[in-house]
Amino acid sequence: MRCLMCGKPMSKETFADLFREEDVLCADCRDGWKRIRRNFRFQGKKAFVLYEYNAAFSSCLLQFKECGDEALKTAFLYPDRRMLRRMYHGRTLLLMPSSEEKERERGFSHLKELFEGVGLPMMEPFLKTGEQSQKSLGRKERRKMSRGILLKPGIALPHRCVLADDVITTGSTMRGALSVLPEGLDLRIFACALTPSRTSEDFLNA
Ligand SMILES: [Zn+2]
Repeated sequence: MRCLMCGKPMSKETFADLFREEDVLCADCRDGWKRIRRNFRFQGKKAFVLYEYNAAFSSCLLQFKECGDEALKTAFLYPDRRMLRRMYHGRTLLLMPSSEEKERERGFSHLKELFEGVGLPMMEPFLKTGEQSQKSLGRKERRKMSRGILLKPGIALPHRCVLADDVITTGSTMRGALSVLPEGLDLRIFACALTPSRTSEDFLNA
């Protein structure tokens, strides 16, 4: 088998390699990822991220999302799938929205693919509308919308959920999603990665 990022053949040579089960990345590529496994609060909710959003993570995500390399889907969460399943047992993943235009171009819902292997129930409860489609919305809908994000009309949400995204960069999309969700949900936040400049307490607790 070859590494899906650099194409180098992968061998199980060292003792550690034997335990690197079915990773699609070679040890060198994997070493470029910075695991931070960080717990923090975002808008008062318990949040958790696995990686720092660095160059290695970002180029893998780009290849997966924008170049449509679906085989890379296990690179992100597969090594942590059991831990995540335990941690969020009994919860439903609410996947953050991509803009409809982007998803149509891409031909697949990249977050669905990414989170599928975790083995938790998933929902896509949000719509993200571009400026063009926002103009076609009525005033009532526009008022319910935050940062271009809207809850799908009439959708019933489970009480225990996890807002799930690939990366938290500015936190703006996450804030938008939080503000359109009904009050009183038992809600956690998870993202694969967090932008390093955003790891300050000020940002996270804002
Ligand atoms: Zn590699």
